[in-house]
Amino acid sequence: MDLRSRLADRRPLLFDGALGSELTRRGIQTPLPLWSAAALRDAPAAIAAIHHDHVVAGAEVVTTATFRTTRRALAKSGSPDPAAEARRLTSRAVDLARSAGSPWIAGSIAPLEDCYEPALVPDDATLVREHGWLARDLADAGVDLLLVETMNTLREAVAAARAARATGLPLMVSFVCTSDATAPPRLLSGEPVAAAARALLAEGVAALGINCTPVPTLHRPLAELLQAVAARVPCAAYGNVGHTDAIQGWTCTTDCPPAAYAHAAAGWIAQGARIVGGCCGTTADHVAALAALLRPTDA
Ligand SMILES: [Zn+2]
Repeated sequence: MDLRSRLADRRPLLFDGALGSELTRRGIQTPLPLWSAAALRDAPAAIAAIHHDHVVAGAEVVTTATFRTTRRALAKSGSPDPAAEARRLTSRAVDLARSAGSPWIAGSIAPLEDCYEPALVPDDATLVREHGWLARDLADAGVDLLLVETMNTLREAVAAARAARATGLPLMVSFVCTSDATAPPRLLSGEPVAAAARALLAEGVAALGINCTPVPTLHRPLAELLQAVAARVPCAAYGNVGHTDAIQGWTCTTDCPPAAYAHAAAGWIAQGARIVGGCCGTTADHVAALAALLRPTDA
C-alpha cells in the first residue's frame, strides 16, 4: 500500500517516537546547533538502533534524523562545505531510516532557527530557498512523505509547505502550540490554530498536526485543529515529555510514562486524531504502548 492510500484509511496510523532526545538519553552527544545531525556524523549506529527499536515497537512510519541537516546549521557548526555535507548527511539519515524496515519514511523538516523562538524566523525569501534545499535533498534520497514539523509561525509553515510541495511528495505539516491552560491555544507566534489550518489546507497538505506540545495540554490546540480541518485531511497528535535544554536541545523526564502517554493518546484519538506518535522525550516504550492501544489484538 502506498502512503497516500494508508492516509486515506480510517485506521489510526502510528508514527515513531523521538530521535534527537533519545540519542541524548542513550548518552550520545547532541550539541547544538547540529543536535541529531552531529550523531549522523559521529554515531550513525545509534540512530539506526533507535529507528529499529521504534519499528519493533510497532511504528509504521519512521522519521528521518534530518531536523538539523540544513546548510544553515552546518555553516553555524563550521562545516567547510555546508551544501555538500547537508546533502550527504540527509542521504545518510534516509538510508538509516530505511534500514529499520518500516513500511514508510517521513522526511523531517524543522524550523530553520529555534523551534520555540518565533522571533528568530528568517524572511520569506530565505525560508523558501533554504527549505527548498532540504526538501529536494530528502526527495532525492527517497522519502515517502515530507513532514514539516514543530512549526511555530504560520509564515514559516507556509513557506516550508510550498518548498515541500514543489517535490510532488505528500506533505504533513505540524505546529508547536502554547501550553497555557488558562488562555486560548495558539501557535507559539500567537496566531490562531484555525487560521493556520485554513492556510495550510489551501497549500494542499495530506495531513496536519500538533506536535512538541506538552502532553497534558495538547488536546486543546488539537480540538481547534480538528474543528477547522473538518475531516478534510487526517490530523496528527504527538506530544513531548520533558523540557528544552540550551546546550543539548532537550532534557528528558519521567513525567509521562508510556501508560500515561497512551492514555492521553486515546483521548486524542477519541477527539478525532488519526495519526499518533511521540515527540521529544518519548521512547520506544511509548511507541509500544501506543501500538498496544491501536492494535490490542496483536498483543
Ligand atoms: Zn519535539
